[in-house]
Amino acid sequence: MDDDDLAARLKAFEGLRATVADRGKDPVNLPMIRHWCEALGDTNPAYTGPDAIAPPTMLQAWTMGGLSGHTSRTRAYDDLLALLDEAGCTSVVATDYEQEYPRPLRPGDEITFDTVIESVSARKTTRLGTGYFVTTRTDIHADGHPRGRRTRGHPPLRILEYAPRKQAPARDPERPRPAEHRPRAVVNRDNTGFWEGVARHELLIQCCTGCRALRFPWLPGCHACGSPDWDTVRALGDGTVFSYVVLHHPPFPAFDPPYAVGLIEPAEGVRIVSNVTGVPYDEVRIGMPVRLEFRRYDEELVLPVFRAAGEAA
Ligand SMILES: [Zn+2]
Repeated sequence: MDDDDLAARLKAFEGLRATVADRGKDPVNLPMIRHWCEALGDTNPAYTGPDAIAPPTMLQAWTMGGLSGHTSRTRAYDDLLALLDEAGCTSVVATDYEQEYPRPLRPGDEITFDTVIESVSARKTTRLGTGYFVTTRTDIHADGHPRGRRTRGHPPLRILEYAPRKQAPARDPERPRPAEHRPRAVVNRDNTGFWEGVARHELLIQCCTGCRALRFPWLPGCHACGSPDWDTVRALGDGTVFSYVVLHHPPFPAFDPPYAVGLIEPAEGVRIVSNVTGVPYDEVRIGMPVRLEFRRYDEELVLPVFRAAGEAA
């Protein structure tokens, strides 16, 4: 199949339905709204009380399929994805997302939604690779309110289906990748100094020269006073586990679940997401004292981790 052929076949999917008459798994409800607001720290009073509305940006939460998924995907959408797969576009990344909120959603609203394949772009080459932008539009309706209010949203979601620049060898999905494929952090002009510090086995925390507020992760400006000027403080290495989660699922390549991910509070302040080493995952506890160390994962990758204090390396 040549490129023109493929382009014409892809174009033919425009306007076809990707899902039909799907339903939200739960009606709009206050417990989900409360969890959302607490997780994001959103204290807007419009989202509590007897006249509460749902935060507009929760729109996608009402249509997500969860682990059990949705069954309403159409043959057309499956065929489009299969055709892109066949053309070597085996990777996908969501690029942008627009939402419109004509009316607020309220507890009790029952959600239904339909998704249309709005457009498939011409072949594009991006920094990730060469592929096609696929834009879908989902119309969301809510008819559950006793007064029969009708709510609609149109979030077009654009994804890029692409052939990765470097074709990775086929991998058995059941077999974890070797440790040398542990994902790399993105190093950019805002955080280069942090990674240079790590290379010298120093954990550097940014410190605003305007108001002396500490910040981590590294960012261009101060969250407290807005100043763009900063220097650094070197963490001396003592810290405590502020919080943690144990990851069981999903199993990411190069990681071997279950494992504990700690939110560590260095003595200097701020909080850092890192591994807790030196104890089994189920013995990590909030308040546990830890000590900074640098662990080498492969020839290129060294990361700061925190060892349970008193546990020998
Ligand atoms: Zn400041």
